[in-house]
Amino acid sequence: MDGPSLVRVRQGAAAVLAASVFGWLSTLTPGPGGVGLAGAQSAAAAQSKVAKPKPKPKPTPKPKPPPPDCARVKCVALTFDDGPAESTRELLDILAARRVRATFFLIGENAAKYPDLVRREHEAGHEIADHSYTHADLGRASKKKIMSELTRTQEAIRRASGVTPVMLRPPYGSTSKRLTKITRELGMAQVLWTVDPLDWEHRDTGYVEKRVLRSVKPGYIVLLHDIHPTSVHAVPKIIDRLAAKGYVFVTVPELFGGRLTPGEEYLQRESGDAQGLP
Ligand SMILES: [Zn+2]
Repeated sequence: MDGPSLVRVRQGAAAVLAASVFGWLSTLTPGPGGVGLAGAQSAAAAQSKVAKPKPKPKPTPKPKPPPPDCARVKCVALTFDDGPAESTRELLDILAARRVRATFFLIGENAAKYPDLVRREHEAGHEIADHSYTHADLGRASKKKIMSELTRTQEAIRRASGVTPVMLRPPYGSTSKRLTKITRELGMAQVLWTVDPLDWEHRDTGYVEKRVLRSVKPGYIVLLHDIHPTSVHAVPKIIDRLAAKGYVFVTVPELFGGRLTPGEEYLQRESGDAQGLP
């Protein structure tokens, strides 16, 4: 059994946490308030035929509540590499149904091929980041090659979504002093991971679910690949099981309090085990 109904029936702390995250997300899409307003206006118009319709008040965007405080709640960041690809569409549906936001590390050439998916990721509130243009081994690359891989990807993502990424995940986790210096100059932090179920090797949904669920702790970053349908199909269970344990899902910047330092490397939030959490 999966689907949003599972989340709704949950009791206790998990439901409270979920509600706060859901509340935040509800600012992203028009809520039922808009429908109610339109209904009230048409009823008023029917009652008073002579009254001129009042100009509609401009919709004021709701103030965005702060993201979860990962020093106090059990946060985990789901990250998806190598897309976008056709299978990304299903993943975006899964995340939307559960109101979970994630971080996508995009291959530049795929971003150029699927600009609609990059835009959709951005519009859904996910974080979009750079994973090089051709999945190059940046740790062994020349300065010229690094610059080309990064700037072309930044440009493809910017063209598709208007966003300029501030994070890089170097393919294979391969980095170097040269790469670190360049990322600092380009205003990008390097983001690695804490949980790797080797989903590219094990194209087995049950295996990926188990490996992730067994390994996650508060403050961890989970590495998955949305180019593999087997990995996408593991996401519903991963989310539902972790939510039931009280986890909230955040983007990578949110995991670190909203701001990353260019040139730094991030693997996990340090405070994981010492938070005195339930
Ligand atoms: Zn990759």
